[in-house]
Amino acid sequence: DDKESECIIDYVEKAVNKLVLQMPHQLFIGGKFVDAEGAKTYDTINPTDGSVICQVSLAQASDVDKAVAAAKDAFENGLWRKISARDRGQLLYRLADLMEEHQEELATIEALDAGAVYTLALKTHVGMSIQTFRYFAGWCDKIQGSTIPINQARPNRNLTLTRKEPIGVCGIIIPWNYPLMMLSWKTAACLAAGNTVVIKPTQVTPLTALKFAELTLKAGIPKGVINILPGSGPLVGQRLSDHPDVRKIGFTGSTEVGKHIMKSCALSNVKKVSLELGGKSPLIIFADCDLNKAVQMGMSSVFFNKGENCIAAGRLFVEDSIHDQFVQKVEEVRKMKIGNPLDRDTNHGPQNNQAHLQKLIEYCQHGIKEGATLVCGGKQVPRPGFFFEPTVFIDVEDHMFIAKEESFGPVMIISRFASGDVDTVLSRANATEFGLASGVFTRDISKALYISEKLEAGTVFINTYNKTDVAAPFGGFKQSGFGKDLGEAALNEYLRVKTVTFEY
Ligand code: NAD
Repeated sequence: DDKESECIIDYVEKAVNKLVLQMPHQLFIGGKFVDAEGAKTYDTINPTDGSVICQVSLAQASDVDKAVAAAKDAFENGLWRKISARDRGQLLYRLADLMEEHQEELATIEALDAGAVYTLALKTHVGMSIQTFRYFAGWCDKIQGSTIPINQARPNRNLTLTRKEPIGVCGIIIPWNYPLMMLSWKTAACLAAGNTVVIKPTQVTPLTALKFAELTLKAGIPKGVINILPGSGPLVGQRLSDHPDVRKIGFTGSTEVGKHIMKSCALSNVKKVSLELGGKSPLIIFADCDLNKAVQMGMSSVFFNKGENCIAAGRLFVEDSIHDQFVQKVEEVRKMKIGNPLDRDTNHGPQNNQAHLQKLIEYCQHGIKEGATLVCGGKQVPRPGFFFEPTVFIDVEDHMFIAKEESFGPVMIISRFASGDVDTVLSRANATEFGLASGVFTRDISKALYISEKLEAGTVFINTYNKTDVAAPFGGFKQSGFGKDLGEAALNEYLRVKTVTFEY
């Protein structure tokens, strides 16, 4: 009854407040929580109601220098280089176990700070982060080079072997959509390879990174191996990219900032760099598909994590003969339960931040102005916080702004294609400068494989979507970037190869 639910809400609020009060709010440098230069702080905002969650230290350029010095010292002189690879793996397993012990707290913080629906945060944001640390912990003692028969004059008295070595201090710069998961994808591979790291979470979502920092201390990760600096991109991210002692930047974020970082990495000291950038992933749905599954996965491809999903299907191409039926079925989005992400019934939380909400409002206005048909949504939800209605557009033509640009929000963009015209729809799907992910729904396996070969994207999903796994490489083509997260391929992003040649 009402009285009981008021009591429960009161209890949850108190528990959440206690959690926020007790967690660290400062920068994490050299194994200690410290104030930023000049004791600068800022407010981190709860997107559910726009209230201040707490104040967090705001890193300055000089803090980057301190963190890089700590990471450099840990790399060159610390325990990290002295312990065996197997022991390094054990520390990462221990860290994963601690993340699991604290998974409810981490998911709650992700719900508060990023607006992630709690149940999803527990399974994906936090769950996949734990899996990622376990996966890469297992790689620590399996990093090996090869022996190569080099082709020299007879008699051949030569032998070449390769060694895979850590690179040194790495900088990791991440976005706000999956704060802990993006941190984990890069950090776990980076540490497994034996590097040390300075991590810059976004200014809008610093909290799970700081809770993670606390867990690294408990796990016994040596001081200086991991350093975490909440702060602004143009100041902290820029200083990291420019820093002469940083040897690699792992970046996930927009294409625009990625290009800028690549330039800084080149001009400073030719840093190694990997870029996971924006996307506008096509999803092609043929009439010969399992329609109900295509609808279900098509909806998940767009509305998962309120559309703040880099591989979200940015454009759906639906074959003429099933177009109207498909549209009718996806109108189910009207029934999505919008609400507080900590509420177990909610399946659509607030957008991550105010600026992003504003961008989505303008994005949809563009679509309407250019003549696309708005089936539902397109507006801010009239309640406190940064909520945006799940939105569906149809009659979207290839030249329109919404057909070309990423929304990064809960906006489904549907275009038709003429029945049977595989090559035309393929060339329309590929007519984008992005190439992150793509998908196809059909029961015809030959058609699916032909399309998977032709689609210009780092990932192709066939009769499924959003199925990422820690063991499978993840990354884009074209202006969606280069280099991979996850899988063995990610490990190589954080290693350098040395060639050693003998004559005997
Ligand atoms: P963003 O590019 O604005 O910011 C990403 C990070 O870069 C943040 O930490 C930011 O502070 C930092 N940054 C900003 N300016 C910088 C500078 N001059 N130097 C160094 N760092 C700087 O992106 P965002 O708004 O946080 O995230 C949304 C974008 O991220 C979308 O385009 C989305 O597609 C992309 N994204 C891609 C993937 C992927 O795996 N490909 C995953 C998630 C998000």
